[in-house]
Amino acid sequence: MKEILIDYLNRNNQNKFDLKAVIFDMDGVLYDSMPAHDRSWQQTMDEEGLTHEPGEFYLHEGRIGKATIDIIFQRNLQRDATEEEVERIYARKTELFGLYNSGDTIPGAREVLDYVKEMNLTPVLVTGSGQPSLLSRLDHHFPDTFTPGTMVTAFDVVNGKPDPEPFLKGLQKGGELLPHQAIVIENAPLGIEAAVGAGIFTIAVNTGPLSDAILREAGASLVFSSMNHLREALPAIIRLTGVVTA
Ligand code: MG
Repeated sequence: MKEILIDYLNRNNQNKFDLKAVIFDMDGVLYDSMPAHDRSWQQTMDEEGLTHEPGEFYLHEGRIGKATIDIIFQRNLQRDATEEEVERIYARKTELFGLYNSGDTIPGAREVLDYVKEMNLTPVLVTGSGQPSLLSRLDHHFPDTFTPGTMVTAFDVVNGKPDPEPFLKGLQKGGELLPHQAIVIENAPLGIEAAVGAGIFTIAVNTGPLSDAILREAGASLVFSSMNHLREALPAIIRLTGVVTA
């Protein structure tokens, strides 16, 4: 564990951590919403007569809707989708997601957030989602945790994941922080790529069907199989960030 933290410091030309915030992705980290996203993407594309690869929507997690649609269009029709097509397909996908989404939280997510607050670290949310009811839902499931001032959503960024922009905005919202002053908790390859691109120590929680190897290849320094396992390891991780030096 210690070596992994030192390796991060060396690669990012830092002498030590100065931990102030923990940045959380939402889908697949706080909410068990990925099965519903996957199912609604698959059904929408089936209805459009467009083929897709098994599990590919887990790999696209974090992309904005248009980018995902264009990848499917390019493969099937060798062109991008028109504005009209994007609008129609994304509206249908959103409609189906509303039907299939359980609203369940990820087991252990609440406990991880509680511990972060107990350690006087600021929890920050970085999501590509742009649902209007996001804050009230978050407030309901994770009370007194996030505010508009500590959330980055689809409305706050020009370039979505895998671009580092959402996480750079997250550092700003955490209190004008530098990369070595935060850690990121992500579940998806493109989210991990974005966080690592922003220079932040990135922990993956593998709550979906992808292999751990894919999350490591995307750049995750640590991979846990659940938020409960992360909760168990978090005291040691946070303690080490306070003592290791490069
Ligand atoms: Mg996610």
